[in-house]
Amino acid sequence: MPTVTDVKTCTVTACAYNNDGCTAEAVTITDHGCATFISLDARGGLPTAGAHVGACQRANCKFNEDLMCTASAITVGESTADCLSFEAR
Ligand code: SF4
Repeated sequence: MPTVTDVKTCTVTACAYNNDGCTAEAVTITDHGCATFISLDARGGLPTAGAHVGACQRANCKFNEDLMCTASAITVGESTADCLSFEAR
């Protein structure tokens, strides 16, 4: 049964949701990186960082079950906002 996965760390400071970490309620991870990433002049999101993985499309990751993440927490980073916790099956 999939569990709620925290976005423990996100180092993509160019993202409008990044304010000392990810302040979106939940993010979607894809093969091309975090689909929630957006670069804007404005900052958005919740007052404090505490995001979760709402969905993950990387079915070839060992933590992926029914297109949901079962890791306890993930790290997002690099210029493409990749999930750095990905591990191939
Ligand atoms: S650890 Fe794997 S299943 Fe979880 S968000 Fe990252 S790529 Fe998706």
